[in-house]
Amino acid sequence: MSGSGYNMSLKNQIISVTAEKIVFPGRSLCRCSDGVALFTEGLLPGESADVLVIKDKKSFREGLLKKITRPCAQRIEPLCPSFGRCGGCTFQNADYTNQIKYKAGYISELLAFTAAPASDILQSPDVWNYRNKMEFSFFDNGGQTDLGLHCRGSFNRYVSVPPCFIADGDFVKAAAIVKNFANKKGLPAYDNKTHEGFFRHLVLRKAQNNGQFLVNIVTNAADFHKEEFNSLVEELSEFADSICWTQNARVSDAVAADSFCVLRGKESILEKLNVGGKDYFFNISAFSFFQTNSKGAQILYNEILKLLDPSKDDVLVDLYCGTGTIGISLAHKVKEVIGIEQIQQAVENAKENALLNNVSNASFFALTAEKWVLQNGGKRFDAVVADPPRSGLTSGVIKFLTGCGAKKIVYVSCNPSTLARDLALIIQDGQYKIKAVTPVDMFPQTYHIEAAVLLEKN
Ligand code: SAH
Repeated sequence: MSGSGYNMSLKNQIISVTAEKIVFPGRSLCRCSDGVALFTEGLLPGESADVLVIKDKKSFREGLLKKITRPCAQRIEPLCPSFGRCGGCTFQNADYTNQIKYKAGYISELLAFTAAPASDILQSPDVWNYRNKMEFSFFDNGGQTDLGLHCRGSFNRYVSVPPCFIADGDFVKAAAIVKNFANKKGLPAYDNKTHEGFFRHLVLRKAQNNGQFLVNIVTNAADFHKEEFNSLVEELSEFADSICWTQNARVSDAVAADSFCVLRGKESILEKLNVGGKDYFFNISAFSFFQTNSKGAQILYNEILKLLDPSKDDVLVDLYCGTGTIGISLAHKVKEVIGIEQIQQAVENAKENALLNNVSNASFFALTAEKWVLQNGGKRFDAVVADPPRSGLTSGVIKFLTGCGAKKIVYVSCNPSTLARDLALIIQDGQYKIKAVTPVDMFPQTYHIEAAVLLEKN
């Protein structure tokens, strides 16, 4: 067959395709003229385009969108000039109603095997400026110190900020002020390749329900005195409640601390979430985990409460509890909360958060869920909330869940594809039934979607 044009690879060729639908994670599933599926990005259902084939496998192809030859009526002009290049947003080319339709489409497809149909997506109250945390990177932009976000799929290319339309409005103001200060002082951006330079990251956090704002300036370790930040601190103080400075001389790009100091205000800010009609307060420091959409988190936590509908005699396990937010906001409705989290610092934060909310029936343990289930395998619990990272649950944790006797389990997921995989395993031996699936949109303009799933014991 070799040499017959029929079998020739289409790699590096430009072909014409039509998008059928959007699939998780935000990719456009297209059909080629020979019937083979092709995945690309940025094409909406019904649209035709020329794409450059970059992968040609037996069962599917991948392509780079080159030219939209037939746009659809749903297409809108993105707000952001960096849309398409920035790694942040995937869906600014469609309005929020259509984004919700795409997300509902892939959630219900991935969970089609469950008997419980997904209910309507609970929408984010804000579709712009909703992010309460951003981590901007400093980079050299033609000799100027600039701030930006990573380009899609790149570790060392950036798009400039401002603008950023999903970040809290104050973040963009702070970014402009810090950038201006860096250039006035002639302080260069850190270079990931040479490991020279000063400014690395700007981490911005806002307690959006409580109006408090934290700025963390992350620099290389350098012979630099904190007084040299004085004019910057003055300028930021007009709207920032907490201004911190982290020095990090490590080669790794993650925001880690070699030394940390507070330049102005307190070390953390206080966020407020109303769950079940009661206000709960949570400390957010420069490094602690907190859901990135405060109003969205409030909707999610209220939904967890509604699905779980706990009783006063229940012992509730909050697996992957982070800083304890879910367990604490349910603590007054149950007898006892047991929170499990692998990061020691998060567990310390959880304990402080419990005190802050007069919660005395919650205890938190710093170990992996895997280790904890090994130690507690035989015990019975009444209710479980599991909120794992994107990678989902491991086999030991799934085994624990199906054997722990809980009347109800709520699985909270930020990745519908590992959620689908894990749910299939949890219901496999017939002990649990999926009763409800509530998707919650915490991430407008992006392909991400959260979901809370109620499982009940048969
Ligand atoms: N439920 C919390 C946090 C969810 S994020 C909230 O709503 O705010 C998931 C958490 O799981 C993170 O805090 C992460 O540190 C933790 N984690 C990741 N892998 C883990 C594991 N194997 N065992 C325990 N915790 C883990």
